[in-house]
Amino acid sequence: ATLPYDDANIFAKILRGEIPSRNVYEDEYALAFHDINPQAPIHILVIPKGRYVSWEDFSAKASDAEIAGFVRAVGQVARDNRLVEPGYRLLANIGGHGHQEVPHLHVHLFGGRQFYHMLA
Ligand code: 5GP
Repeated sequence: ATLPYDDANIFAKILRGEIPSRNVYEDEYALAFHDINPQAPIHILVIPKGRYVSWEDFSAKASDAEIAGFVRAVGQVARDNRLVEPGYRLLANIGGHGHQEVPHLHVHLFGGRQFYHMLA
């Protein structure tokens, strides 16, 4: 069950410029910034600018332009941050079982080290 969107969530505040973020990419549809608590040498979050909590919420309600913009932004961030050649991990935590902490859809890009099975 998707939560209602809460405009007080931390990524909404980042999008509104109310709290600082170390941005690495921004366009009409997406914003990318460094995670405040990095789990790898490179740990970047990419978020759509729209008010979507989850992947299925986004996939059901976002326009084709928003979906394309977000997907393209993820790829651009991977290229811009030299993640492509060594490889990287792309992850989205969704809902309770996914242990999603911030209720604004985001994907994590992890790089700069070797990953193993799942999250180890
Ligand atoms: P989730 O568990 O929801 O997938 O991950 C949320 C991520 O957001 C965590 O990795 C956490 O470190 C990051 N995060 C939480 N608050 C902030 C913040 O204020 N700024 C930034 N840049 N990252 C944050």
